[in-house]
Amino acid sequence: MRKLYDFPYSDVLVLGLAKSGTAAAKLLISSGVNVRINDIKASENDPVVQELRELGAEVITGSHPITVLDDVKLLIKNPGIPYENPIVIEAQNRFIPIITEVELAAKLAGDSIIGITGSNGKTTTTTLITAMIEESEKPVKVAGNIGIVATEVAENLEKDETLVLELSSFQLQGIIEFKPHTAVLLNIFEAHLDYHKTFENYKHAKCNIFRNQTSDDFLVYNADDLTIVNTIQEESVDATLVPFSVNQQLDEGAWIDQRSIYFKNEKIIDRNAIVLVGNHNLENILAAISAAKLNGATNEGIRKVLTTFKGVKHRLQFVDDVQNRLFYNDSKATNILATQKALSSFQKPVILLAGGLDRGNDFDDLAPYLGHVKAMVVFGETKGKLKEMGQQVGIQEIVVAANVEQAVEKAFSISNEGDVVLLSPACASWDQYRTFEERGDMFIRAVHKLV
Ligand code: ADP
Repeated sequence: MRKLYDFPYSDVLVLGLAKSGTAAAKLLISSGVNVRINDIKASENDPVVQELRELGAEVITGSHPITVLDDVKLLIKNPGIPYENPIVIEAQNRFIPIITEVELAAKLAGDSIIGITGSNGKTTTTTLITAMIEESEKPVKVAGNIGIVATEVAENLEKDETLVLELSSFQLQGIIEFKPHTAVLLNIFEAHLDYHKTFENYKHAKCNIFRNQTSDDFLVYNADDLTIVNTIQEESVDATLVPFSVNQQLDEGAWIDQRSIYFKNEKIIDRNAIVLVGNHNLENILAAISAAKLNGATNEGIRKVLTTFKGVKHRLQFVDDVQNRLFYNDSKATNILATQKALSSFQKPVILLAGGLDRGNDFDDLAPYLGHVKAMVVFGETKGKLKEMGQQVGIQEIVVAANVEQAVEKAFSISNEGDVVLLSPACASWDQYRTFEERGDMFIRAVHKLV
C-alpha cells in the first residue's frame, strides 16, 4: 500500500465526509497526520463517524463551528462544497491552503497520471483511454470523477501502473501542486456557473489541469476549441503540446480525414471500423488515441477497443440489433442539447423515444433536428408538449406510451428494417424514475425482451 511520506502539513481539516473525504481522512491518519473532520449532514450514529473516531480523528457533525479551523494547516474540501461555505471563506481569510482529494491521490501516484477534463465527454474519453491501455496489455487503473475514489485507487497502484483520472472543474479548482503527466483538455463550454459564478472562473479551474506541468509532460488539447487555443496562447504553457482536430491535418497530434484516423501522420484505424457513433465521439476518440499512444498503447490495442466499444452506458450506447432495427440508449440526455447531439449522430430513419419531467420549457429547439425522425413515441409529463411539437413539424406517426418499457414495444411494432430506435428523452427522468440510469436500464431490459 502506498503512503504519504514527508507530508508537509501536520494538522488537516477534512470538510465533507462523502466517500472521498472518508478515504482522504483514512489515508492521512495512516500517514501520521492529525485529522479533524467536519460534516454538517453526517449523524453521530453513522458507522463511518465511529470508525474514524476509533482511528484517531476528531469528528464534528451537524454544524460548521468556525473553531474547526483552529490550528488547521491545510483544508481538504469535498469538491461539491461551494467556496461560499463559511468555513471555506474563513480558511481563505486565514490563508489556509485548500485542496481536493485528487491532490492527495497525485502525491501517491507520482508521474503515472493521465488526467482528463472538459465540459463534455470526460467519462467517454476516460473509459476509452483506460480500455486502450488495458488492451495493449499494460497495467492501468481508472478513478476520479467517474465515480471511483482516487486516493483509494492510488494507494493500491502497482509499480509502473498508469492511473487514468477523470477530473471535474470542482476538483481542479482545489489544486496546488497537482499535475498529470498527460493532461487531456476536451472542450470548454459554459457550464456549472451556479458553482463557479463566471465563465472566467470556470475556464480557470479547467485550465488548472496544465498549470503545473513541465516540458516533460504532455497537454493533449482540442485544437478546434477557440477558448482552449486562446488560453494556451495567452498563458505560457510549459507542457509539450499535442493537439487533436476533426477539422485540420496536424503533424503532431491526432486528426481525421474522410476515411481514416491518424496520430502523428501514422494511420491508426479506418473510420468505418469504429463502432461508437456520434460526431462528438470522434473528438473523444482522437483525444483518447493521443493520450493512449503517449502512454505506450499499441495500435492493435487501440483498434481492438474502437472496433468493439459500444459507448458508455446510457450515453448513446448501442444496445442491440433486433431484426435489423438498431436500438440506442441515450438516457443521459436529460436536456434538449444532448438530444440534438444524439439526433445529429444518425443519418438513418429514427424512431425517437422522448419525454420525462416537465421543467416548464418548450421543445421548439428540437424541431430543426427532426428531419430524419419518421416517428416519435412520447411518455412522461412532457408527452403532450412533445406530441404537439412533433405534429407541428409534420411527423407522421406520434404514439403515446405509459413508460419506457411500453415505448420500446410500441416503437418496435411501428419500425421497419434499417431503422434506428433511439431513447434520447430530452428531459430528466424524475417524474417516473429515480435516476436516468434506472430509465436506461428499463430500456435495455425492454429491448432484450424483444429478442
Ligand atoms: P461527461 O463525463 O463530461 O459528462 P460523457 O462522456 O458522460 O461526458 O458524455 C455526456 C454527454 O455529453 C453525451 O451523451 C453527449 O451528449 C455529450 N458529449 C460527449 N462528448 C462530447 C464532446 N466531445 N463534445 C460535445 N458533447 C459531448
